[in-house]
Amino acid sequence: MCGVFGIHAPGRDVARLTYFGLHALQHRGQESAGIAVSEHGRLTALRDLGLVTQVFDEKNLSGLHGELAIGHTRYSTTGSNAWANAQPLLHHGRARTVALGHNGNLINAGELRSQLAQRFASTSDSEMVAALIANDERPLPEAIAATMEKLEGAASIVGLADGRLFAFRDRHGFRPLVLGRLGDDPVVASETCALDLIGAAFEREIRPGELFLAGEGAEQVEQVLPPAERGALCIFEFFYLARPDSRLAGVEVHGARVRMGERLAEESPVEADLVLPIPDSGTPAAIGFSRATGIPFSEGLIKNRYVHRTFIQPEQSLRDQGVRMKFNPLAEVAGKRLVVVDDSIVRGSTTRQIVQMLFDSGAAEVHVRVSSPPVVSPCFYGIDLASEDEMIAAHATVEEVRAAIGATSLAYLSLEGLQAATRRPESALCRACLTRDYPTRLPTETAKLRFEPAPAETA
Ligand code: SF4
Repeated sequence: MCGVFGIHAPGRDVARLTYFGLHALQHRGQESAGIAVSEHGRLTALRDLGLVTQVFDEKNLSGLHGELAIGHTRYSTTGSNAWANAQPLLHHGRARTVALGHNGNLINAGELRSQLAQRFASTSDSEMVAALIANDERPLPEAIAATMEKLEGAASIVGLADGRLFAFRDRHGFRPLVLGRLGDDPVVASETCALDLIGAAFEREIRPGELFLAGEGAEQVEQVLPPAERGALCIFEFFYLARPDSRLAGVEVHGARVRMGERLAEESPVEADLVLPIPDSGTPAAIGFSRATGIPFSEGLIKNRYVHRTFIQPEQSLRDQGVRMKFNPLAEVAGKRLVVVDDSIVRGSTTRQIVQMLFDSGAAEVHVRVSSPPVVSPCFYGIDLASEDEMIAAHATVEEVRAAIGATSLAYLSLEGLQAATRRPESALCRACLTRDYPTRLPTETAKLRFEPAPAETA
């Protein structure tokens, strides 16, 4: 998970536009945020740990000038949550300096790192991409194209170098990346909601394997890599990650999630008094479940939206409250038969605590309905799901999961039902964490912190 944004707009306040674009992409990463600008080829980057509003203020934003800008919100999947890994990162190479923001996870990062045989400032896989481009002495488009050929795995990337904005997508298209226009000026972003927020019109998706360049002359579009035979846009984006008001591959995410809930109701109906979502990502599917069954929708669980987005660690007595830090039930759940709709269950610990909390609040029955199939296998392409051993459904039956979470009943949406709700063909999507059928070879090394220095190196 991460959000990326880029713009070429001479005469506009590109840093401020990027700041607002990042606001719309905050849900894709809350660990760090950053903006890099290019002014007549000179690069400046400002990045730090924290939310967009914690990293930027009027003063530091007004110091960022240029015709081009990129921005990034980070949720780490390779490399720790440390300042050095915040993006956009800057890499000074033999041929040029590159600023780069990456959404996705490479599966050959270890191999690239050994081939490059140099020291890196960060421990993320993204700096290797920047280094490959920065050290290649050919003109920028050729340097990027050669780099794209070397990458395996997921990469939706924005960057600045040689006074130009570039954006490209891996040949499978795991992570979304769209192109829009603010007037005539090009804007790229992870999701269409970022275009909407700054008033840019959606033009099209950046195609898998495509490179887009703007600035210093005419725009350039090149299909560098043939798109993979089997597309692999992440199905998790549809039911969990993307913002509901975004459109993925032409499909509005909210509508897809409502259809998931309707289908779930058809597949696994239940007699109940109220349907309530686990907010926020379970909300559209709960609306769909309620519509399809006629059972009234309730906001029965109120989410505290801010407490988990702070650097201040809660003291132990607060931590012991677990999920109560995040959700609080309304009194109306008492005595009711509830259908609780969530988008997914990975480890199961949050679901178990919510079920317990609803029973503690007097619920008569708690029927859990999940708008995706069981998550049974890890993601190597940029979603930090957990290891297989930590996944509650990886080696358990539905009945065993039900017993573990303490629900009255449990049902998941079928894979066919999920697929149908996306209105995309099976051949367009990655579903590997649900099916164990991966669209690439498996990486040899997967530890998130594999490039962190060993204790002796840091001493
Ligand atoms: S493995 Fe799952 S989470 Fe990862 S890209 Fe594929 S569908 Fe998405």
